[in-house]
Amino acid sequence: MGDQLSWDLDPLKLGDPTKDQLILMEVGSEAKAVSHHPQKIAMIFSAMRHFAEEARSKNWTVTYVRYRPQSSFLDELENHCKLLKPNEIHVTRASEWRVYLEQKTWAEHLSTPVKIYEDTRFFSTIEQFTEWASDRKEWRMEYFYRELRRQSGILMNGNEPIGGKWNFDKQNRKPIPKDVVPPRRRKFAPDRITRAVLSLVEEHFSSNFGDIAKFNWPVTRAEALEALDHFISDCLPLYGDYQDAMRNGFRDEDDTLFHSLIAPALNIGLLSPLEVCQAAELAYHNGKCPINASEGFIRQILGWREYVRGLYWHMGPGYRQLNFLEAEADLPSSYWGAHTNMLCIAEAVRTTRQNAYAHHIQRLMITGNFALLLGVNPLQVNEWYLSVYADAFEWVQLPNTHGMALYADGGRLASKPYAASGAYVNRMSDYCKTCSYAVKDTVGEEACPLNALYWDFISRHKGAFSKNPRMGLAMKNWDRKCDSDKASILEKAARLKLNADSL
Ligand code: SF4
Repeated sequence: MGDQLSWDLDPLKLGDPTKDQLILMEVGSEAKAVSHHPQKIAMIFSAMRHFAEEARSKNWTVTYVRYRPQSSFLDELENHCKLLKPNEIHVTRASEWRVYLEQKTWAEHLSTPVKIYEDTRFFSTIEQFTEWASDRKEWRMEYFYRELRRQSGILMNGNEPIGGKWNFDKQNRKPIPKDVVPPRRRKFAPDRITRAVLSLVEEHFSSNFGDIAKFNWPVTRAEALEALDHFISDCLPLYGDYQDAMRNGFRDEDDTLFHSLIAPALNIGLLSPLEVCQAAELAYHNGKCPINASEGFIRQILGWREYVRGLYWHMGPGYRQLNFLEAEADLPSSYWGAHTNMLCIAEAVRTTRQNAYAHHIQRLMITGNFALLLGVNPLQVNEWYLSVYADAFEWVQLPNTHGMALYADGGRLASKPYAASGAYVNRMSDYCKTCSYAVKDTVGEEACPLNALYWDFISRHKGAFSKNPRMGLAMKNWDRKCDSDKASILEKAARLKLNADSL
């Protein structure tokens, strides 16, 4: 499958090119499951085609099924079973519930044994998370992360964390000063295979949200290693300091700052999480980056990525249906590129459209926060995130959006909702300086919409959060307001919610 392009997976490690055949399929049912960003489809198809070439060079007989809009995994397997008459089909467990449940029906449909192997590209197993979670009332990433630090020995000195602390996050929340210029990104010139795929994508997916012009994703392991190398040497030293900062995208590098941009390559199998963490650890040991950068980055991979994957499988296929806050509003049209005067939203959507990328704070605290405050239905928000980012696969996207950004799971994943007013955006970005809204105002005509919406959110969910100690201060601040202030804020918020498409 398109996100299993790794020679470390069991079906490939155990397979025998003299007897077995490899089949890769670009199927319409997957490419059209949601309206994926054209860059995401191009990256996956190009990486698959390069992987097939590599397999042929390793003497595998490869059947490569090129894109057909109406095809599905099962249709293609049925066709090829008739042709190839395999004794068995060996496959790695799909990375999302929908396809995994389909895989489990293949043997019956095809009248051929299907062996499904676990995906071994992670530090932890699905069972390990389940065991860990079943012992606890509250699941918090930090404790799962510590367990995996001990297990892997990464950034450890015996049983103690290197640097004397498990987590250096407090040092990683600096706004970025004007005179700090992030590095230009390595360019990957499209080769013959990628150019053909880009044409195919333009032909079939040009109506999907997203531009293809700036396509620059690694599509081979060699390119992915180059991207990793570039990140470790040029970006990691300041990654920690500015990982939560945002900046108006006047230059290309303002969109990417010091972020790694390797999640797509990692998620489709071109890089392994172990080699990525080891590279960041080595950079610290060699004095190339400070501990807050190395630890902060490793925590994203060894901690957060493993935790959300475990939670995704543990919560089952019904997780996406949870709607703890009973959010029913529609996603504003600005998420799909309609004009908005909210510069923070306009910027997050612009970089998403141009690059199939926005960094984690733009996702969580800009587009995620606005959808949370408006009370947008989680199914709509999840579909948007799954569609628009090159790295978005449901196992990682769903917990991040549903649990972290929207609190739709009632706190299984996050200890509090990440709701914020304009003050947070103003502290962490330069957006508010040139926005047509006034970030310090709450109720005037020009007031920043996030302010009234923030208090409205606190007021409408008081009951749900009354026992959450991390929400106590926000509740108290709301209670301290006089009745007339409360009434005008709620009235303003009601108008904003009614006009969410024209803010
Ligand atoms: Fe966003 Fe409000 Fe700042 Fe404008 S003023 S950029 S809407 S936070």
